[in-house]
Amino acid sequence: MFVTCVAATGKVHKENKKRMINQELLEILACPQCKEGVKINEKGDGLVCEKCRLLYEIRDDIPVMLVDEAKSLDDIE
Ligand SMILES: [Zn+2]
Repeated sequence: MFVTCVAATGKVHKENKKRMINQELLEILACPQCKEGVKINEKGDGLVCEKCRLLYEIRDDIPVMLVDEAKSLDDIE
């Protein structure tokens, strides 16, 4: 279901500077609802809270960390 390896490979950042979110930013981001850490999704266009099953979209490289704006993973699957 979830790709968890992406967040763990932050070291290889020099060559993939596409629209990959900054690893340091990812480490300080937390789900606004449960305050748990979030993980980048498979496509790299959103941050996932597995606990709440919510996807926070990344728009223009800025993660939208708002519960009201988040999508349910159950709706996406
Ligand atoms: Zn959460």
